[in-house]
Amino acid sequence: NAIPDISLNDGNTIPQLGFGVYQIDPKDTVAAVRKALEVGYRHIDTAEMYGNEAEVGRAIRESGVDRDEVFVTSKLNNGFHRPDDARKAFESTLAALRMDHVDLFLIHWPLPTLYDGDFVATWKTLEEFRRDGRARSIGVSNFQVAHLERLAAEADTVPAVNQVEVHPYFGNEEVRAYGRAHGIPTEAWSPIAQGKVLGDPTVVDVAEQVGRTPAQVVLRWHVQRGDIVFPKSTTPERIEENFRIFDFELDDTAMERITGLDRGEAGRQGPNPDTFD
Ligand code: NAD
Repeated sequence: NAIPDISLNDGNTIPQLGFGVYQIDPKDTVAAVRKALEVGYRHIDTAEMYGNEAEVGRAIRESGVDRDEVFVTSKLNNGFHRPDDARKAFESTLAALRMDHVDLFLIHWPLPTLYDGDFVATWKTLEEFRRDGRARSIGVSNFQVAHLERLAAEADTVPAVNQVEVHPYFGNEEVRAYGRAHGIPTEAWSPIAQGKVLGDPTVVDVAEQVGRTPAQVVLRWHVQRGDIVFPKSTTPERIEENFRIFDFELDDTAMERITGLDRGEAGRQGPNPDTFD
């Protein structure tokens, strides 16, 4: 049940399975992250916006697991895209985590109307954080193809990852294909659509066929597509269940049946990055 590492375009690696902490109340975060680390997760996905970076840092410190064995991602809060604001926000992130570096730092949303939509200047500020070692890798989140093309044209470095909404109801294939073609692994957020795909008859049927749970089957579908996932849960049994996805396989038919659930834009659960500001 070992977790594979995915190679990033900057020479670093990231565990393909992690633990997400969006919408985990700060008062529940230490217990949830401690449980995840006990189960074996070594990759935590947080953000300044989630309001629980301090608790993530505390959970890691109190766990007895070495800081260097855990891959920690955080994200630049929306509204802090101007270079000086980004520098301050990044310092707040490190202070809250009580860490001298993060493994990955992302622009959370492109925000096309904020600060004249100049996320390229924001990206160049993240490049500073990588150069000074406080962010081992830097990447983006919720970037559409047009946003990635603009970075490719105007910046010197390519994002290490693009973290976007992906699940069986929203395959996000165009963005994933751009990433594959340009060495940018996709991180699939809301991988089980916040639970909404788990009652789908096709998912339930595949789960029965392979003798696994719907959540395991959907997470397995993601990893066989090569994406990075970090399901969220505060329930200890589910935290364990979501971790046990590397000791079985889906055959091509099962993969195709799940891929076939894609509803295109109608399947999106979160905001559209082109208009979200
Ligand atoms: P998710 O798809 O991981 O679903 C989580 C929910 O599904 C839980 O609250 C629980 O209700 C249910 N669930 C979890 N495991 C289950 C199981 N085994 N059986 C039954 N139900 C189960 O949703 P998410 O939290 O939105 O996404 C995961 C992570 O992605 C987040 O925690 C966060 O780290 C990241 N994320 C990033 C962005 C972004 O803009 N970059 C946006 C959303 C989420």
